[in-house]
Amino acid sequence: MPQAAPINGFGPPHKPPECRVQHGWQLCKQHSKDQKLLADYIVYMKRDKEKNNWSQEAGNVAKFLFYMDPTTPSLEFVRDIETTRRFFRELADVGLQKQTLANYLKSVKAFVRYSVVATSLSNTDPGLYTIARQYLEKLDDITSTLIKQVSKKVVGKRLNVPLVNSRTARRVTEMLTGKEKRPPVCLPWESTGDNLDQANKLFQDLFPVTLSGAPPGKKIRESVVRENVKVCYDKWRSVQQELRIRDVIAQFPCRRPSERQIQRYIDRQDWLTNKITAETVVPAWKPAEQLMEVLDSTAILKLVRSQKWKGLIVKDDEVKGKTVMTTRDFAKDEVVCDYHGIPISKAEGKKLLVCTGQDEMGYLLFYKNSRGQGCCIDAKTLPCPCHPGRATFGRLINHSRKKYNLKPIVKTVSIDGNDQDVIYLKATRPILCDEELSFDYGVRRKSFQGKAAGLEWLDD
Ligand SMILES: [Zn+2]
Repeated sequence: MPQAAPINGFGPPHKPPECRVQHGWQLCKQHSKDQKLLADYIVYMKRDKEKNNWSQEAGNVAKFLFYMDPTTPSLEFVRDIETTRRFFRELADVGLQKQTLANYLKSVKAFVRYSVVATSLSNTDPGLYTIARQYLEKLDDITSTLIKQVSKKVVGKRLNVPLVNSRTARRVTEMLTGKEKRPPVCLPWESTGDNLDQANKLFQDLFPVTLSGAPPGKKIRESVVRENVKVCYDKWRSVQQELRIRDVIAQFPCRRPSERQIQRYIDRQDWLTNKITAETVVPAWKPAEQLMEVLDSTAILKLVRSQKWKGLIVKDDEVKGKTVMTTRDFAKDEVVCDYHGIPISKAEGKKLLVCTGQDEMGYLLFYKNSRGQGCCIDAKTLPCPCHPGRATFGRLINHSRKKYNLKPIVKTVSIDGNDQDVIYLKATRPILCDEELSFDYGVRRKSFQGKAAGLEWLDD
């Protein structure tokens, strides 16, 4: 049934009586769910979030949108926090259950979050996008005010219990979330500095720190840990920040990301309060401890494919010829680049060696693959067929037997469906900006059936 547009915020004259009694007239009207804004959201909920209660969620949002603008559903309401407050106040005034109220708030919040995170709003209307994000934080204030009212009701009557155990903790949670049916409990300790650890523990047991969760509201915080509230709250926030920093770092296991890459990842997350900045993540970054296991991750294979390794530059040296230098710091065990060339068999490599001059022997890298077979990377043939027009870094890195700062590691990865060995070069120690890179080619004077005996550079 098409909705008649109300005049001056009042509904049309035919008000269904049950509606007026239950919610108040204006609060029970809603926009059609076929309107694009709502229809898109429903598709998102059904497909991307697999929400079972999408119909109820959409209904809540449709009613809210109608209240905010009866003419057309739009996101413009994020500019109007006062009317938002009035909406929830009116819901409370008509005697809605607190839980129902909280559900409304949750639905509106989820809808704004969806608009911020899952739509192209940041591109199509950056101004509105920013306001929408700020709006979400203001909604948090409304949440805490609402729950404050809930907790005021139950915290008033207290019973004494001797010990804090998981049952107590569970009951306090139930009490604070309004699920409590039995008489509420009072926490057993006097709030002194001695109990700080216990307070922190209880606080985090009651309000588990998660990546995306919001901290509990002020009233609840105070009712749980009283004078310790600031310490516990600050601790909760710092634990969440550490969790988030660890989460960001785990996304970049092999190479230190740039601040831009980090920011892009953070912006995609649902972290609307207690934010972390890209600058705080960079100094905390270190490569994954199980580096071997992540050497086939998407980001590193993308670099292997493109050969666009950042942080390196080729310079000419009077004595050594070409050298590869760093243009940024590298952490110990960080993957600096790979040794790129054409993968051939050991026998083919040896054949090539016969017709290779001393100065070019460094362009053939012999190694054993994961199955123990002898293999070779031919970096002599230039350009490689896969990167015509690109001088790859690995082959230009000089040999050093004693003062090397890189170590080759072999990893068999799947590229375009084919197994392929990649020789990664990882830092054996922290490497500073503007240092020359080198690794031990593994050849000695006796290598290559004695042919290498005359090579001066093998002793460096
Ligand atoms: Zn290539």
